[in-house]
Amino acid sequence: MRASLIVWLCLSTLLRAESKPKNGPEALIFTNVTVVSTRNGGIEPNVTVVIKKGQITGMAKVGFVDEGRNNTIINAHGKFMIPGLWDMHVHSAFISPVWDEKVIYPLYIANGVTGVRDMGGNPEVLASRRIRIDSGQLLGPHLIFGGPFLAGGKSDPQTIAVNNPEEARRAVDTVKRQGDDFVKILSNVPRDSYFAIADEAAKQNISFVGHVPYAISVREAAAAGQKSIEHLTGFMLACSSREDELRSQELTALANHDYAAYQKLGTEVMATYDQSKANALFLQIAQGNTWQVPTLVWTQANSRIDDSSLESDPRLKYVPSLVRKEWDPVKLRQSVSPEELASLKTEAARHVELVNAMHSAGVQFMAGSDGPDPYVFPGFSLHEELEWLVKSGFTPLQALQAATFNPALFLTKGDKYGVAEIGRVADLVLLDANPLDDIRNTRKIFGVVVGGKYYSRAALDKMLQQVETLAGQQ
Ligand SMILES: [Zn+2]
Repeated sequence: MRASLIVWLCLSTLLRAESKPKNGPEALIFTNVTVVSTRNGGIEPNVTVVIKKGQITGMAKVGFVDEGRNNTIINAHGKFMIPGLWDMHVHSAFISPVWDEKVIYPLYIANGVTGVRDMGGNPEVLASRRIRIDSGQLLGPHLIFGGPFLAGGKSDPQTIAVNNPEEARRAVDTVKRQGDDFVKILSNVPRDSYFAIADEAAKQNISFVGHVPYAISVREAAAAGQKSIEHLTGFMLACSSREDELRSQELTALANHDYAAYQKLGTEVMATYDQSKANALFLQIAQGNTWQVPTLVWTQANSRIDDSSLESDPRLKYVPSLVRKEWDPVKLRQSVSPEELASLKTEAARHVELVNAMHSAGVQFMAGSDGPDPYVFPGFSLHEELEWLVKSGFTPLQALQAATFNPALFLTKGDKYGVAEIGRVADLVLLDANPLDDIRNTRKIFGVVVGGKYYSRAALDKMLQQVETLAGQQ
């Protein structure tokens, strides 16, 4: 063996590939890495991971790579490998092409977020962006996105009005024909439109997700086949002993645009929480196929606008001034009354308890941040969401699964994403410490692999520096 590097690899795929040497880097190889299984929490030290053409093609304890190859080999001794993270509730096409593509997308990648579910951007913009990302022209995460919002009221470029069942069916048809991934519904969808959406979506074989509308109960939404519920919408009311009565009062208040009355009812909803009713509901949800994306980090951010430390958040340097204007704490504080803020704080705390109880009952969860809403930082806040899930009773493994294994399962893309295993897309995050010891270790990023391309810590820092420069310019 006149070789400079000897590593054993017991993999037929690699052995077959040996017959045809090519120019250019052929494989990206990590040696001595500890692989964390997001399937079962297994920890496998000293693994060699081989990546070719954007896929994980080999993983073995010992292997062989001959010297004739033009390989990139990274000794990842002491590092922990997890699959790329998914943020299952984002708005990545909301502000401007520059902010989106040169700020939000690098922030995702620098934070190890290699997939996002966009919950409300312009689908045309997202569709063309997906093509550019998939072809390697634009660096960004894999994009899954819905059609325009389906909502009551008036249509606009972002929204299709669904004020009656006919409009609702047509809207589902439009979303399906456009090739968008799912139907997204908002809170003010009328009752009969909602059931028309559910029926048409089932007929057209497209999923519908979003808020549980005011006029619908969580039970009804789950029974109608809503595939995910965002922000725990409808749950506090569904757990109230006076659910039906309070719902009709809420609908009246909303119809009269009496938001003070609506907010007061919210307090009553929380005060009439019925433990045994809640337990029965959670069991029913756990037995169905409706997933929860609680976006706790978003609820917490909304409830903390009086926190004076907001202005000194070091991540603000990545937020363009145009957006920072929208995030102005003074302006945000003026937009809510002290009573509203107090109720937001109670609700935020109750949501943590709710997630705990629902999770204990076996309800399925995914991690989502709802960035870039105020103080929900794209990329960074997904890690905060994982920490909130742990604060809500998840083990670190369960929290990690909420951003890896579960999204892959939910999207029926388990053959591509969600685990660091042979045959999967090479979206990987290398960490300096074990995330199963402490979920905050997902922030200690040593490197990120996106579709087989490696970004070292230095490359990620450069990416962040460029975002900071750009954000400062605007
Ligand atoms: Zn959202």
